[in-house]
Amino acid sequence: MNLPEKYNVPVPRYTSYPTVPFWKNSIDAEEWKKVFSQQFEGCNNAEGISLYMHLPFCEALCTYCGCNKKITTNHSVEEEYMQAIIKEWKLYRALMYDVPVIRELHLGGGTPTFFSPANLQRLLNAILKDAKIHAQHEFSFEGHPNNTTKEHLQALYDSGFRRVSYGVQDHNAKVQKIINRIQPFENVQRATEEAREVGYHSVNFDHIYGLPLQTLESMEQTILQTISLKPDRIAFYSYAHVPWTSKAQRLFDENDLPDAKLKMQLYQLGKKLFTEHGYTDIGMDHFAVQTDDLYKAWNEGWLHRNFMGYTTQRTNMLLGLGVSSISDAGVAFAQNHKTLHDYYASISNNKLAVTKGYFLNEEDVAFRKYILDISCKGQTKFFEKDLPVLETYTFSELKNLEEDGLIFWNEEGVTVTETGRQFIRNICKAFDLHLLRSEQMHEKKLFSKAI
Ligand code: SF4
Repeated sequence: MNLPEKYNVPVPRYTSYPTVPFWKNSIDAEEWKKVFSQQFEGCNNAEGISLYMHLPFCEALCTYCGCNKKITTNHSVEEEYMQAIIKEWKLYRALMYDVPVIRELHLGGGTPTFFSPANLQRLLNAILKDAKIHAQHEFSFEGHPNNTTKEHLQALYDSGFRRVSYGVQDHNAKVQKIINRIQPFENVQRATEEAREVGYHSVNFDHIYGLPLQTLESMEQTILQTISLKPDRIAFYSYAHVPWTSKAQRLFDENDLPDAKLKMQLYQLGKKLFTEHGYTDIGMDHFAVQTDDLYKAWNEGWLHRNFMGYTTQRTNMLLGLGVSSISDAGVAFAQNHKTLHDYYASISNNKLAVTKGYFLNEEDVAFRKYILDISCKGQTKFFEKDLPVLETYTFSELKNLEEDGLIFWNEEGVTVTETGRQFIRNICKAFDLHLLRSEQMHEKKLFSKAI
């Protein structure tokens, strides 16, 4: 079996550790507030904080989508939602001992550009008037090429945004039809050119491989079309077919999905074309040109990773506002209610909307660092105190990875090889004690059933 086949197994993306399936289904809100305030105090003046706002509305349903979104064409929903986010910000603001210093700000969704440019500006003014902006800030947003207008780009530019990420996915008309995301190439071209005209210095495209009706020919065409627009970054994600949680995926005829072998070939083809055209494989499905900050951060060892994916700003506090948003206080995670109904109910009662989360213990903090180091720097050093646990769970995994040429390792640490970069998630898994322990439990149960 070749390596891409061998390592083609479901592995988390490690935007958090522990990963969400190992969190508790409830959270002590008072404890979360305490941890939030303490961590804020430690982070704010030293490095600033990161802010994520989830804007969940979309006008049409893309049938592959696994995001938390609300489909509507009624734009009167914008006002109620903006007021809720502003109120949520005020609830958090009361827990901050000082004026927050915003270093990183990202608008995600849903479709942030569902909101009118004027409303986005009002929302941002309401949040930022009560904050300082870090000298090295990076503000970015996710734009839908069909509805990101020059006015959106200008309004956000005026609020300090310099990076936009467009959901492109695939340029092929048949693929677009079956995923219900009709998005002519001209729209992507216009949105990209307008972003550059306004002054954005980084344009990212999201692409997905493994979508229904994708073929090697259609993928080659799609990627060459994308390369012709010269995006600075490309995120090339694997389609996750989970119709039991994302109901719209049930609309697909499963026979139209590429099989595992073709899916792998689609990825290999994409990687080959991107790298042949000047993009560097950063790891975990990301490619960047050498003038982009993502490449520089990776090359110079200051890349960071959080719920927004790879980022060039390292802060230990990410505050998530809006329905389903996740906050990361370094030693604790908290997620907001996933339905608008529950989210609005909490905020209107002057309560934080947190519903589930996790407080990390000492072991989690150490292993989180190993996973972050591997995914961002391609290497990590072990703490002596962790050696007994590493020996029990991780070293046997490392031996296997080394045999396949993915890493070098000894009792001091691990370094990812050039070959291993394509399998970063699989290497991170060797440090995922929660997953390894649960797999061992599962094996034990199967074994005891068998005897
Ligand atoms: S993929 Fe984006 S635009 Fe499409 S439904 Fe999901 S969140 Fe909305």
